[in-house]
Amino acid sequence: MIDLERIDPQIAESIRLEEQRQLQRLELIASENFASPAVRQAQASVLTNKYAEGYPGHRYYGGCEFVDTAESLAIERAKELFAAEYANVQPHSGSQANMAVFFSILQPGDTIMGMDLRHGGHLTHGSPVNFSGRLFRVISYGVNRQTETIDMEALERLAKEQRPKLVIAGASSYPRAINFAFFQSVCDEIGAYLMVDMAHIAGLVAAGVHPSPIPHSDFVTSTTHKTLRGPRGGLILAREGHADKLNKQIFPGIQGGPLMHVIAAKAVAFKEALTAEFRSYQKQIVVNAKRLAAELLDRGFRLVSGGTDNHILLVDLRGKGLTGAQAEVILDKAWITVNKNSIPFDPEKPAVTSGIRVGTPAVTTRGMKENDMAVIAKFIHQALEAGDDAAVLEQLSRQVGDFCSQFPLHKPVYEMEAA
Ligand SMILES: *Cc1c(COP(=O)(O)O)cnc(C)c1O
Repeated sequence: MIDLERIDPQIAESIRLEEQRQLQRLELIASENFASPAVRQAQASVLTNKYAEGYPGHRYYGGCEFVDTAESLAIERAKELFAAEYANVQPHSGSQANMAVFFSILQPGDTIMGMDLRHGGHLTHGSPVNFSGRLFRVISYGVNRQTETIDMEALERLAKEQRPKLVIAGASSYPRAINFAFFQSVCDEIGAYLMVDMAHIAGLVAAGVHPSPIPHSDFVTSTTHKTLRGPRGGLILAREGHADKLNKQIFPGIQGGPLMHVIAAKAVAFKEALTAEFRSYQKQIVVNAKRLAAELLDRGFRLVSGGTDNHILLVDLRGKGLTGAQAEVILDKAWITVNKNSIPFDPEKPAVTSGIRVGTPAVTTRGMKENDMAVIAKFIHQALEAGDDAAVLEQLSRQVGDFCSQFPLHKPVYEMEAA
């Protein structure tokens, strides 16, 4: 950071301000977390300098013996963590992981079936604005209007009627546990592949807090930076029989040189995730989410599906006379960071929405417990009641800042280097 400040003070400043924002404000974006200093140290290392196209022991470049060790460790640890037969740790992101799986078994025009984006699915599960929706014929399933949980009957009917080649389970804003065994039974009936995208819940799965998709699916994809708390990146797990075609699709299929610094950081994150501490962290994420749900319900908020089984709450704000977009802006002013999010059957456009998505992984990393969730619910309630009263929101932002300062984050990597 010392060099950076001299060479590029503008970027150094933007990093410093972002770090301050992360320290002072309440981070409730469900897909975010705080990677450990060890993870960030690996990610900020000289491994970024190395080209290593190929896989450990079979590279297209010389001088790969040390990065080979790092990638082999990442692979072995990922397999151990999730009890998987095969792991590919090279995807640059969750989207790349999904793309590689699709390309390994599908041709353009093939039918895929995924969860509707507006019911909680991800862009890469067949949205028309995404490559998945442009290259494949897409059919979508969603949630039941009453229960707001995945409509299993409708899903099964649709699958039998449309015969997709690939069914995708997994979501980005679904607060309930997913029954992977059911998906497997549907896929078995119609002879489809099952891919589970566990990007959001990978940490919970690693800790046994959410049932594992591994025994039920052909492919499991993930990000490494959400509940799993590693560096920003992707991961593919599968049965050994799929190894060759998956390896080929990542490289040379859709990527060039792997990000060896990120892969080393993934290895560190997997090692951290194999500890008992990590398992209690994941348990606490869910305990916190359930308590936050109860506290918000007490304050008259409606939660999609009535509550949560995981780290996500989807708050329906229609009863409060606010849109998701308005709520996001108001909460931001009170230093509470969330994202607007469509709720199932949302009457509002995706840029407006009727809801917000709230998640507990990041605040739990800071060491917040159940009772702190009561404080957070109170802050959210007060901010949304204040609406456009700038003075109240400013006052509240100071309280939120004081509250956050009781939960110090890890020491920044650059301070450790400077010491
Ligand atoms: C976040 C997410 C992804 C994509 O991850 P990126 O790394 O942002 O590409 C894929 N699938 C699901 C379900 C996600 O929630």
